[in-house]
Amino acid sequence: MHVPDRVIVVEVGPRDGLQNETAMVSVDDKVTFIALLSAAGCPVIEAGAFVSPLWIPQMADTADVFARISKRTGTRYTALVPNVEGLNRAHAAGVTEVAIFAAASETFSRKNINQDIDASLAGYRDVCGRARELGIQVRAYLSTAFGCPFEGHIEPRAVAQVAGALIDMGAFEVAVSDTIGIAHPGQVPAVVTAVAERVPVEKLALHFHDTRGTALANVLAALDLGVTTFDASAGGLGGCPYAPGATGNLATEDLLYMLDGLGVETGIELNAVLAATRFMSARVGHAPASRYVAAMHAAGASTRPDDRRSSS
Ligand code: MG
Repeated sequence: MHVPDRVIVVEVGPRDGLQNETAMVSVDDKVTFIALLSAAGCPVIEAGAFVSPLWIPQMADTADVFARISKRTGTRYTALVPNVEGLNRAHAAGVTEVAIFAAASETFSRKNINQDIDASLAGYRDVCGRARELGIQVRAYLSTAFGCPFEGHIEPRAVAQVAGALIDMGAFEVAVSDTIGIAHPGQVPAVVTAVAERVPVEKLALHFHDTRGTALANVLAALDLGVTTFDASAGGLGGCPYAPGATGNLATEDLLYMLDGLGVETGIELNAVLAATRFMSARVGHAPASRYVAAMHAAGASTRPDDRRSSS
């Protein structure tokens, strides 16, 4: 199996995580959370979204968050934008990298952003054009790439086509996303290979959800195919919007534990991410979905060393 020397982990907890939590987290707490993630050495932190507050109230304060982030050298701070208006707001807030979000499924595109795929791509072409003028980098998400809650199976060809269009319009990277957490390692090669025929593999990121317990196995399959960028969320923050109560984003700690074990460099300190997760899980009011965090808590709860050795 091929394993790269280095992987970029994109920390999406402060945006993709918190926007899917029911708790409203204060600006102060978001800024502290982002500071803890920065101190952990995260190379990329998705810190918020310039979307309508009616649409995602959890992200209404993103400009305030950006005004107060103390930026660490070596970390990129990014924000989601749906259109040129959002991009302009991001620019006014000093953001230098944004993310746009298209879908591989027509039905999902219509239900999620109220536009068919072609119309959404036309809008994003405008975003990319304006971003070029402003000197802002654009990352693209491609949702429902491994399956759609409405259509079920999505053809890898269709995924590759939209991914290619996003790169052609100027996105530097496309995060091919398993929105509903159904991807498995038997499927990863088909999707990655199809996309890699259209998009250079170094411009390809993967965004897995651990809803069915397959996220790490999917990462392992993708590493072998040459993918070196993966999204993750501290503590597994965010849940699964399409299966309320289920696990969503792959937890950063779980990913780091596996990558550390494989000898893959990330520049991120696992224990320091754990501190960020502890801080935020107290604010969102539930235990983290991360298996690694659960194991650490269980070990910490056992006060006598003998307890930890009592079974195998
Ligand atoms: Mg996600």
